[in-house]
This record gives sequence, structure tokens and C-alpha cells, in this order.
Amino acid sequence: MNPLKNNCRITTSWDDGHPLDFRVAELLTKYKLTGTFYVPRSSQKPVMNRSQVHELSKTFEIGGHTLEHVAIDTLSDVEALVQLAGSREWLEQLTGSPCRVFCFPSGKFRRRQLPLVRQAGYKAVRTVELLSTANPQRIDGLCVIPTTIQAFPHSASAYARNAAKRFSIAHFISLPAAIQSKGWTFLAEEMLRRAMENCGIFHLWGHSWEIEEQGEWENVEAVLRTMSSFRERSKSVTNGELFGHPSQLISQEPATARAACAERPT
Ligand SMILES: [Zn+2]
Repeated sequence: MNPLKNNCRITTSWDDGHPLDFRVAELLTKYKLTGTFYVPRSSQKPVMNRSQVHELSKTFEIGGHTLEHVAIDTLSDVEALVQLAGSREWLEQLTGSPCRVFCFPSGKFRRRQLPLVRQAGYKAVRTVELLSTANPQRIDGLCVIPTTIQAFPHSASAYARNAAKRFSIAHFISLPAAIQSKGWTFLAEEMLRRAMENCGIFHLWGHSWEIEEQGEWENVEAVLRTMSSFRERSKSVTNGELFGHPSQLISQEPATARAACAERPT
């Protein structure tokens, strides 16, 4: 067995709970990959019904995405807690499984709100930071999970803005210039190769409704196929498993959980 197998990891996440998430789920299953679906109870767009969410939870991890798909950055602490804790409780009651990961609608939050997320019972948050292949970092007691690439044809300048906004210029490598002509799948496959060479984490995320709107299903399948070809060298995990939290373990957090989520250097 390749000694690096347990260190290189591939994960995926899918936001908004649109019924087309089942098409993503079928593709993940076809390519023997896993991931996490962040599902709000209601949204501006159609969402899966209760039995569909329950069905999806039998195979994939389900994470919180607020009750009504609202950006929490403008909410009071009380309002934010209603959305945060409410979505966790709703999902746990619906799926019968622990819900320990959360993703901010529209990626919007204030740094001072991270303790609220922890207070609401989550262990980790997934951000919309792109071009990262690094381990999650522990900030304010929460494991903060960045992403590598979105299944969306962003422009190179969008990547630059994302990197600048997150103060992660170190992640802004020279590759985005090439995507103007070659597309996001080129960047995805390059980042995947880099992640596997350095035994990092490759994290693909997206919205199924947006993949449909943009006509990106073929590209998504091509990237998943390539990800699957690295399964011998890596481990396909849910977002929760990135920080040592198998979705079926609610009461005992494994000892490896902290080691998998590095303290942020000060
Ligand atoms: Zn969303």
C-alpha cells in the first residue's frame, strides 16, 4: 500500500439542497467518491423535500446551511443563532445523524461570528476560499475548511479577487492566467495533481442548480472521473472526515480530530 494514502485526501461539497443534488450524488457514487451536501430548510430556489434529504443522508454527509438560506453577516447574534442552531437541530431530527459541519450562505460571515457557529453546536465551517490544498485550520475553536475549486467557470480576475479578499495571496498561484483560455476543468486537474504531489487536500465544491444553468455537467463529470483516477493514491472523505469526524460518530470525537485541524499560526 502506498504509505501516503492516508494523508492525501479528496473531498467534495455541494450547497443549497436543490433537487438536482441527486444528479451530483449519482455521479459521486459512479466514481466512488464521497462528499458533504449543505442543505437549508428553505431557499430562494427549490430545495429537496424532507424524504429526499433523508434519502441523501443515508449515503452522504449533510451539513447546515441556515434554516432559510440567509447570509448571516448582517444578522444580530440572536438571529444568527436561530439560523445556525435551528438548521443543525432540523437536520439532526430529519436525518437521525449528527450534524457537525456548517457552510455560510453566499460565503458571507463576520470573523466575530465564528464563536456563534461553535455555540450552535458545529465543529467546523466550510468557507468559499478557493485554490487551497492545505489542511483545515482551527480558528476560535472551530475547524475552518477552505476549498480548492468551484465547479463554475470563474474568470481569472474572480480568482484574484477571492484570494485578495481572504488575504490568502499565497494561494494565488500563476495557474489562473491559464484558465482564461482552457477553462476551470484545466485548473481543477492541475490543482488536483499538485494536491496529490504534495499530499494535500483537493476540495471541489459547487451548486447543482448552477451546474445546470451553466451547462457544466459534462465538465463536472470529467473532473470527478479524474479525481477518481487518484483514488489509489488518496482517500475520498466527507468534509467532516477532514477533521476526524466520521458522520456516524456523535458522542466521541476521535483523538485525531485536533491533529487534523492545525492551529492557525499567529
Ligand atoms: Zn448557498
